[in-house]
Amino acid sequence: MYIGIDLGGMSIKAGLVNEAYKIVATKTMPTGAERHGDEIAKDMAKLALELAEENGYKMQDIKAVGVGCPGACNSKTGICAFSANINFKDTHICEIITKELGVPAYLGNDANVAAFGEYKVINEEMESMLFVTLGTGVGGGIILNGKIYEGFNGVGAEIGHIQVDKNSENKCGCGRYGCWETEASVSALIRETKKAIEANPDCAMAKSVEGDLSRVNGRTSFDAAKAGDAVAQKIVDAFIKAVGEGVCSMINIFQPEVLLIGGAISKEGDYLLDPIRKLAETDTYKHNGVHTRIAAAQLGNDAGIIGAALLGE
Ligand SMILES: [Zn+2]
Repeated sequence: MYIGIDLGGMSIKAGLVNEAYKIVATKTMPTGAERHGDEIAKDMAKLALELAEENGYKMQDIKAVGVGCPGACNSKTGICAFSANINFKDTHICEIITKELGVPAYLGNDANVAAFGEYKVINEEMESMLFVTLGTGVGGGIILNGKIYEGFNGVGAEIGHIQVDKNSENKCGCGRYGCWETEASVSALIRETKKAIEANPDCAMAKSVEGDLSRVNGRTSFDAAKAGDAVAQKIVDAFIKAVGEGVCSMINIFQPEVLLIGGAISKEGDYLLDPIRKLAETDTYKHNGVHTRIAAAQLGNDAGIIGAALLGE
């Protein structure tokens, strides 16, 4: 049995994960992100202990505790150097957890760890996989030779910050314009949907939210496009193209066996993926007819817990 912890700015979620890579029980507590980082690390240990005991396990039954954490995480040292939303500053997360619980602890960046979870459950003999998650931003992870690639400093694989449109007016948090994240995140989709509604107050999207822009979400344009709204179709096409541009760049660099797209929008399935597959067929470098398989991620919100748990496998 393993314990995986998915740490976020709002909550700490811990899960017991068995040898078949399934979550068998979970427990959650608030993060208290403004507290001293050491206190948060100690609480992760406490939560793991409670989860184990409440389900009839002793810590000796737990092979490892893994943590997926937002920010710059070095898996070799077990230290989180910095996290934008949690008060970590060179926090020795693994050392603290091991001291509290007496079991090995592992650490990884949350998106990388989610990628690792997806990789492990695909259950294929593959060396390389890319995971792209479309949400508030564009995140992801790179698995090479069966291992997470995190760069020498723990902040590699920030794939949302490749530039896909240098003429874009959208400035990214990283300082650049036209990052993949500013063009292909769900936030970008919502931004463009709102703009289109303002410019076309009679379109089907405007009617579907009754003119209330605060009701626009990631599905507004997709639903209206499927119902035949031309304005929505333009938004959807541009969004999918932006996702696809980044996918092609990632394929050209890594030629992974599989590229998974995750985030709530991946529930659109082939409606989202088929145009991306088509673009990848024409716009990526290839010479032997063997192409990257592009598919929807499977684990949803469970990827973080499962991936974290299996860091210690
Ligand atoms: Zn950026």
